[in-house]
Amino acid sequence: MILSSKPALPCIGLAVMLSISACGKKGITADPDPDPEPETAEWQLPEYMAVFKESLAVNITLITGAGKNLLVDSGWPDFTDILMDSIRNKSDAPVTGIINTHHHLDHIGGNGLLQNGGTIIGHENHRDAYERSNPNGAVTVFTDTLSLDHAGIRLECISKAFSHSAADLIVYLPAEKILILGDLYFSSSFPFLDMDDGASVPNLLAAWDEIIQTYPDDLHIIPGHGPVTTMHQFVVYTNTVKATVAAVRAEMDKGRNYGEIAASDVLDRWNYLDTIVSRTVWIYFIYYSYNSAD
Ligand SMILES: [Zn+2]
Repeated sequence: MILSSKPALPCIGLAVMLSISACGKKGITADPDPDPEPETAEWQLPEYMAVFKESLAVNITLITGAGKNLLVDSGWPDFTDILMDSIRNKSDAPVTGIINTHHHLDHIGGNGLLQNGGTIIGHENHRDAYERSNPNGAVTVFTDTLSLDHAGIRLECISKAFSHSAADLIVYLPAEKILILGDLYFSSSFPFLDMDDGASVPNLLAAWDEIIQTYPDDLHIIPGHGPVTTMHQFVVYTNTVKATVAAVRAEMDKGRNYGEIAASDVLDRWNYLDTIVSRTVWIYFIYYSYNSAD
């Protein structure tokens, strides 16, 4: 629980700030350094899929087939024309379904692209946001899991609520060996949490552990923000972030407050993750996830 006495959230990256203002498996041990050999260079998405990044660094996944298009997330509202051009370059079919990995504006802002008769799919915890995002679209919500078939492609939506927001879901494509993690994964940055919506660092770490234990090793992972990675790179990333959590908690154990830790060099070693979400914001999330009494 967060007490009102905590300081305001420090300045954060543009995309995330706008979003919020609108509102040891695998034999891999802890490795606090970036993966030296990215494994995605040779890998290609199936020809019926695309990942668009035109919407200000949000990953939007297209799955096309049988005369219809499905999106996973829809980007910022101001980028819908650009997104539509990208979709049209791949397929002229109508957008008949949009899965929203959560309700933040950078993931639902293009829901107006849904054609009449289409369906928005999301987590029940923010059903209202999905209904408002496109008054002409039907809305299907769930609380645990939901299996879908889009043009013969199986998709499994699984709740990971309260990891990054109250409405998180991930999407698994078993035949394609692809996992879409939404904002549970900023693959080149410290994570972001909507703590006012119930997210916390322990929840996020627990969700990561579940994912790593549940899914095969040979997956590719589409994050909410940042480059597509392998499962191996995801495991390295999670181990790295866990090391940053341990480092901050060690400072907390010495009795240091948030301001003292944020001003220190405790996370300097991991400065390469100070990108979309800054080091001081990440320290804030750690500190107030584990110290609600300050
Ligand atoms: Zn996002």
